[in-house]
Amino acid sequence: MKTRVRFAPSPTGFLHIGGARTALFNWLYARHTGGTFILRIEDTDAARNSQEAVDVILNGLRWLGLHWDEGPLTSDATGPSKGERGPYFQSQRRENYQRRVEALLSHGLAYEHEGAIKFKMQREPILIPDLVVGDVLRKLTDREEADPDFVIVRSDGQPVFHFVNVVDDLEMGITHVIRGEDHLSNTAKHIALFRAFGVEPPKYAHIPLILNADGSKMSKRDRGASLTTYGDDGFLPEAVNNYLCLLGWSPKDNVEKLALADVIERFDLPQILRHNARFDFEKLLWLQGEYCRELAPDRFYELSVHALAKAGLDTNALPVAYVKAALDTCRGKIKTFAELPAYAGFYFRDEITYDPEAAKKSFVPENKPRVEKLREAFGKLATFDAASLEAALKAVAAELGVKAGVLVHPVRLACTGNPSGPSLYHLLEVIGKEKVLARIEQAIQQLG
Ligand code: GLU
Repeated sequence: MKTRVRFAPSPTGFLHIGGARTALFNWLYARHTGGTFILRIEDTDAARNSQEAVDVILNGLRWLGLHWDEGPLTSDATGPSKGERGPYFQSQRRENYQRRVEALLSHGLAYEHEGAIKFKMQREPILIPDLVVGDVLRKLTDREEADPDFVIVRSDGQPVFHFVNVVDDLEMGITHVIRGEDHLSNTAKHIALFRAFGVEPPKYAHIPLILNADGSKMSKRDRGASLTTYGDDGFLPEAVNNYLCLLGWSPKDNVEKLALADVIERFDLPQILRHNARFDFEKLLWLQGEYCRELAPDRFYELSVHALAKAGLDTNALPVAYVKAALDTCRGKIKTFAELPAYAGFYFRDEITYDPEAAKKSFVPENKPRVEKLREAFGKLATFDAASLEAALKAVAAELGVKAGVLVHPVRLACTGNPSGPSLYHLLEVIGKEKVLARIEQAIQQLG
């Protein structure tokens, strides 16, 4: 039988990192088995529904590259969803639920109660075989003992989550339900509903939750909780995907950096870890740095320009060769693109703001004659390239009997405003003679 899995989020306006991981694990399992990955928007709660909330989910999955395989053809053939099918929306599947309620009613498996419709829940304990958690025997609680039946259609005519979730899983032929462990407590109800329809339930794999580094539950406001913030903060989807794979799944050899194609090959449900995963921002940053270093030049350039534009640094008016040369000095130096405006903003703005701490150290009166001498030496250079700049600076330092660092710090601060950054001689070459001399001149005014 072909694997059919689904990600079934409710549109809340927020895609939790745990939800993104659930989507990823479903997608990986579908790709690993050559099956189908379905996206189903559980939007029966009309009060919370909006296009924006749905877009948060769709754009989040698109950003991660987790494309869904199936669904109705969309009319929007030109937008970001070009060529995409689906997703399925529960709000468009009401007749199915209606039909299924009637079937239960006519078989005496459901009944009307104070305007609502209740399902006749089985009284016997239910065994939940779970591929991750193992076998769980769910007995009725004391409260359920008195009345285990539960509402499947509210008195206002709205079918409830348990019911629509099961009807869709059944009608969509879902073979494996891979979802967060918070749903394990609902699963007995779901299994009973499947049986009432005369169908064997799908296989279940409940994935342990993602906790904060300190072991507390991850709430909406915690760092890293919202998938949308990763793109905004300059992360690469391949780094985030890799990191999400490691949150609750581990390849047998403990390798951490894994291309998605590798994970697809290795991924399987029994390897999902049983204990809760802790969010480790440092590991994510490390992976991000690794992927960032390997980026193809064009993509590095494109993402950099985008991050700069978002910070108000427009590179459009500048020669492409200049922007490329400037960005080349940042490769391998930054981890996320959100660092770029602070790291390399000096290439793209006229005004230099000096880091106050560094200015206190470097812009001291005894440096004035030294920097003046350096300016003079730079001014005489016929070729303004990194090698000549380095030679000139070292010659001045030797003449003054000081270490190169004594000149390096003030000149870096003068030209970039920062105490650290790209390789000094390279950045000076990129900025060019005229601007370097002007910036040093301006700094000299500060020196006394
Ligand atoms: N709509 C449910 C949720 O967002 C789906 C649960 C499931 O995957 O079955 O948690």
